[in-house]
Amino acid sequence: MTDLGALAWPDVAARASKTVLAIPVGSTEQHGPHLPLSTDTEVAVEVARRLAAIRPDVVVAPAVPYGSSGEHAGFPGTLSIGQDALELLLVELIRSADAFAGTLIVSAHGGNAGPVTRAADRLGREGRRVRVWSPPATDPTDTHAGQIETSILLAVRPAGVQAGKAEAGARQPLQELWPALRRGGVAAVSPNGVLGDPTGASAAAGRRLLGDWVDALGLSLEGWP
Ligand SMILES: [Zn+2]
Repeated sequence: MTDLGALAWPDVAARASKTVLAIPVGSTEQHGPHLPLSTDTEVAVEVARRLAAIRPDVVVAPAVPYGSSGEHAGFPGTLSIGQDALELLLVELIRSADAFAGTLIVSAHGGNAGPVTRAADRLGREGRRVRVWSPPATDPTDTHAGQIETSILLAVRPAGVQAGKAEAGARQPLQELWPALRRGGVAAVSPNGVLGDPTGASAAAGRRLLGDWVDALGLSLEGWP
């Protein structure tokens, strides 16, 4: 595993043209009463580092710890730079990474999807090699601070989980919650900020998920860039 920030520039110069730069993109936003505001950022960093562990040509950039989290406004501690700023941040950041063979955006926050996709499309039209990874949406009743994210944080950094405070939030499928969520944000559908039920979470489940995600990501990048 190699973190870009730990290298000196000649180290980078010697290998950049054969190296993929992985940029973890997270958020600083509420994740219920039991998970830290840094959850998405920690998940993105973990996935990028695990990928680098199986692909020696991957270097992990310092994470972007802010994203587009307007839907979590009203929960103190949530900090958001909004969609336009995130898109522009990624466009400028990746334009500055032309020494590398390609760039992989590892985005662990669903609310970042629009700006991340638009930035990648724009950079692709400019002739840059950019790929995007985000966690597969497997369960519409477990979309925020529920079993999936809690299990992963238990696997990555258990000290960050206040397990005794884990409690279910809104448990309807996301598409049912969507109209009210669009109007009033997460606070309108879930007073504790959870969409799902974290009470059955486990580190073992988190390790399995991370393993599956990174295996699939590694396969999808075979032969690239
Ligand atoms: Zn999250």
